[in-house]
Amino acid sequence: MALIKDIAIVIRRLDYSETSQVLVVFARETGQQRLIAKGVKRGTKSKAATGIDLLELGFVVYSRRAESEAALGTLTEWRQEDVHPAVRRNLAAWYAAQYAADRTAQATQEGDPHPELFDALKHLLESEAWSRPLAALAWYLCVLLREVGLVPQFERCAACGAERASVSCVYFSARQGGLLCRDCEPAFVEKRRVDPRTVDAAIAVEEWPDLATALEDDLPETVMPSVFELLDYHLTEVLSKPSRVTAILRSAAGRTR
Ligand SMILES: [Zn+2]
Repeated sequence: MALIKDIAIVIRRLDYSETSQVLVVFARETGQQRLIAKGVKRGTKSKAATGIDLLELGFVVYSRRAESEAALGTLTEWRQEDVHPAVRRNLAAWYAAQYAADRTAQATQEGDPHPELFDALKHLLESEAWSRPLAALAWYLCVLLREVGLVPQFERCAACGAERASVSCVYFSARQGGLLCRDCEPAFVEKRRVDPRTVDAAIAVEEWPDLATALEDDLPETVMPSVFELLDYHLTEVLSKPSRVTAILRSAAGRTR
């Protein structure tokens, strides 16, 4: 069995037994990998038995049997590079980062590499500026949607193609992949009402070229919860599953419903 070396971020972490963990890592060159880390929680005299933490970045060495794609790989080495202290300093940042990791795990396939998405997640976790957690997260979600080919259409009706400027688009349908105009809207069951100001903000967010722009843009923070809700709704519908982190992130970011 060949050993594979990569750099990776822990996007899910499950306890497996007293001494082992199952980790889902997002590796830059080899994509999502499910790895069993045997004995990793066993401490030594000088080192506490803490294991490998969620959202850590590290150099990983693992092996995988070629004939069984679905089986767990075996982690043979983990060299911690960054534990990302900034995301652990406040709850909104912590849950926003967990949400990004959870959606990455849901939206990408095992063994399917997305180096640009990896770089974006690494950049997000390294950011010191968690003053705008929902803006940072909205930027990341747009990168994720582009990478997996699920970017919604906000400029025109997704059903008839009419420009948003010339018709009134008050509904959004994830399965149709964008806005719906008044004429098309009655034909579709899966849809939700959307405020035009939220659509304007979402278009601006989609155009942010990098995280620095997201953090410095003068788009008001008050509009970010509704942009997040729209992107979260879209992902939940197209992936057919909600994120376990959405509710707790919503309350940590100061929005309840
Ligand atoms: Zn239409």
